[in-house]
Amino acid sequence: MISIQNVNKWYGDFQVLTNCSTEVKKGEVVVVCGPSGSGKSTLIKCVNALEPFQQGDINVDGTSIADKKTNLPKLRSRVGMVFQHFELFPHLTITENLTIAQIKVLGRSKAEAEKKGLALLDRVGLAAHAHKHPGQLSGGQQQRVAIARALAMDPVVMLFDEPTSALDPEMVNEVLDVMVQLAHEGMTMMCVTHEMGFARKVADRVIFMDAGQIVEDCPKEEFFGDINARSERAQQFLAKIL
Ligand code: ADP
Ligand code: MG
Repeated sequence: MISIQNVNKWYGDFQVLTNCSTEVKKGEVVVVCGPSGSGKSTLIKCVNALEPFQQGDINVDGTSIADKKTNLPKLRSRVGMVFQHFELFPHLTITENLTIAQIKVLGRSKAEAEKKGLALLDRVGLAAHAHKHPGQLSGGQQQRVAIARALAMDPVVMLFDEPTSALDPEMVNEVLDVMVQLAHEGMTMMCVTHEMGFARKVADRVIFMDAGQIVEDCPKEEFFGDINARSERAQQFLAKIL
């Protein structure tokens, strides 16, 4: 579903991604972890074509991002993205947040978009909040709305960039629970997170990044199995978070 092939990216003179390659199969859940500044957000934004890269290619469901002929807005509409800071539209109601892209990008009717949006809102346990504005919801609730909003576009993959790291601790699980449910339903997911409990529960593979490189890319069982068999850099990182 996602194929990342030898991606190199620079910000000016600074190489932020070096020879990054990996694949995510349909229905697979891949957790990406690594120290701050290691390039995790940049890599995931490249998959969504939110950040350009200078070398290599990324294919999403058979569409090449590097191919100049590719319609990037169309590709982006098929990739769900959930950020650390929710990024809901503050001046719109929850219903409007859930429907605006369905109407403007996918051309759905208002009635159809509302039906879909409200069904998803119900699925994340927030049906009673449809008429409110984002500011009236807790961080955990806003993040669940953000997930519902991404799902409303019928994405082929979902990308998460530290979706729980801006939340108060007591709200982390309500968001992780929604992500676990999605994983169990077979959604293809690439999740930047340091929630290793989540990784242990649903990840098929774990990728560890450091200094712009994919240092480890292995099945969960292997990653959490014998820590001593991991690279030095991964061991140092795991020692801090486990
Ligand atoms: P992570 O998500 O792993 O913390 P990022 O992908 O956000 O890492 O950043 C990787 C590196 O790229 C960091 O050193 C960061 O300072 C740098 N960086 C990120 N965005 C930009 C930018 N727009 N311009 C220049 N450097 C950037
Ligand atoms: Mg980041």
